[in-house]
Amino acid sequence: METVSLFGLPFYSGNMAGAVEVAFGRLRDGCRCAVFTPNAEILRNCIEDEAMHALALQADLLLPDGIGVVKAAQILDVPLTGRLPGVDFAAALAKRAACEGVSLYLFGAAPGVAERAAENLQSTYPGLRVCGCRNGYFSPQEEEQIALDIAQSGAGIVFVCLGSPKQEAFIAAHGQAFEGKICVGLGGSLDVFAGTVRRAPALFIRLHAEWLYRLLCQPTRLKRMLRIPGLFAAARKEKRRLKKEGGENCGKTGGAGRA
Ligand code: UDP
Repeated sequence: METVSLFGLPFYSGNMAGAVEVAFGRLRDGCRCAVFTPNAEILRNCIEDEAMHALALQADLLLPDGIGVVKAAQILDVPLTGRLPGVDFAAALAKRAACEGVSLYLFGAAPGVAERAAENLQSTYPGLRVCGCRNGYFSPQEEEQIALDIAQSGAGIVFVCLGSPKQEAFIAAHGQAFEGKICVGLGGSLDVFAGTVRRAPALFIRLHAEWLYRLLCQPTRLKRMLRIPGLFAAARKEKRRLKKEGGENCGKTGGAGRA
């Protein structure tokens, strides 16, 4: 699998079709495929928080969800192909699952959202089997049972949409239960599939300004987004450090470069 190292994290550097192929390949082989989809904000958390960094390293496939991750890679001269939005990856998985008869479990978001997302996904991808839905609000005592229900549901693919770092922690904590499944941490994607949150119009996506659209729709995200410039500052600092350390090797070893 083609990856590049960004702040010590092996991001997948191929395209969307390749990422889907990697996931289905692992499913065919009966392995777990934990997919995390960090955006700029999550990547910054990984840089600043060792536990979050260690959690991200437990993924079998790390996709650069946001343009901020791609920009940070550019600062570090790390060759990422481009962004691979989690919500697009999820749609591509659902499409292929419908063709191959693989069942899907939808876990996360407010009560009723997963069920609505299931209906919409099934009308977009006829033949798609959804073998379970569960909202994302639960007590610590309920967690084990939820993981067991998912494990026994017959699902080959699980969308875990609890926000970060809850979704990554859930997937990592129940690795054994999810053996032989594709488990993807997808933030607010169920809201998008359900239609309770609108995806940015195509123009915003084309201009790499999906983040701006989300901010305009949900101004409460401002505090979270204000952390993003810190990622670019960290990338510039890392670049200076690598330059000092490795001269011409800058951007190809250490915190950046091919994994
Ligand atoms: N959520 C959940 N359980 C929680 C906290 C959050 O299911 O305990 C859901 C929330 O309802 C939303 C998603 O997790 O659907 C997080 O969405 P957000 O927009 O924060 O994620 P992003 O897409 O920015 O990663």
